[in-house]
Amino acid sequence: MSPATGVPEYEVHAIRYGRHDDRLLRENFIPPLKEPADLHDAPMPMDFFVWVLRGGGRTIVVDTGFDARESAARGRGIVFPVEDGLTALGIAPDTVRDVIITHMHWDHAGNHDLFPNARYHLQAREMSYCTGPCMCHPMLRSTFTVDDVTAMVRRVFDGRVQFHDGTSEVAPGVTVHLVGGHSQGLQIVRVWTRRGWVVLASDASHYYANIDQGRPFPIVSNVAEMLDGFGLIRSLAASADHYIPGHDPLVLRRYAPSLSADMPHIVRLDGTPSKS
Ligand SMILES: [Zn+2]
Ligand SMILES: [Zn+2]
Repeated sequence: MSPATGVPEYEVHAIRYGRHDDRLLRENFIPPLKEPADLHDAPMPMDFFVWVLRGGGRTIVVDTGFDARESAARGRGIVFPVEDGLTALGIAPDTVRDVIITHMHWDHAGNHDLFPNARYHLQAREMSYCTGPCMCHPMLRSTFTVDDVTAMVRRVFDGRVQFHDGTSEVAPGVTVHLVGGHSQGLQIVRVWTRRGWVVLASDASHYYANIDQGRPFPIVSNVAEMLDGFGLIRSLAASADHYIPGHDPLVLRRYAPSLSADMPHIVRLDGTPSKS
């Protein structure tokens, strides 16, 4: 389905800023009842991304990544700082007016001071989750960083947060959609591009294999809602080539570098992917 006339086409870039090499397949899926044992110890690294949408005179950043201090605290490497990625794309962070936070997990909501002039878009349900009774459970709060949460509370009091409730338009051609399951108030982003609707799934599907095989990632607050989220991603994307998982190294292999071959960390998602 095409959007209304006059809706701009957006350039969509993924910036891979972080990497977790020492990771195994079994850490990325809820185990099925029966699985060949030899698969359990296969390596399956994880990449960390932020995304940039540009169109109609707007620049919208999706997620803010983590900083060097959080990298050290969590043992996850930074390969290309978020700020450098934006600079490479010609974006001065202090000119960014809109930041969509897909959810408040530590690897999506850091770098607090990078966007001093932005309005932050967040699902109301996510804010309730990360400031409410569920955070009394160490297991549930371990994927959040209290400084990220308090920074967002301060933005609320500064009048810089726009809350969304379910499906909502951030700009013409850019909508957010609530997906439960991984966190309670995660939102995915649908954006209009030259090749149709592209969906940034963020952690609603960490890897292509999570959605394509119907096998949820094990950090989950509600398995049924996560499985429902896979269906929503499919229904919003123009095809299976149009959804972008949140942490899959295959993204850098399937999409062409945005700038040059020697700048492998930034790829253009509104171009046609290769099959690899
Ligand atoms: Zn997450
Ligand atoms: Zn994540």
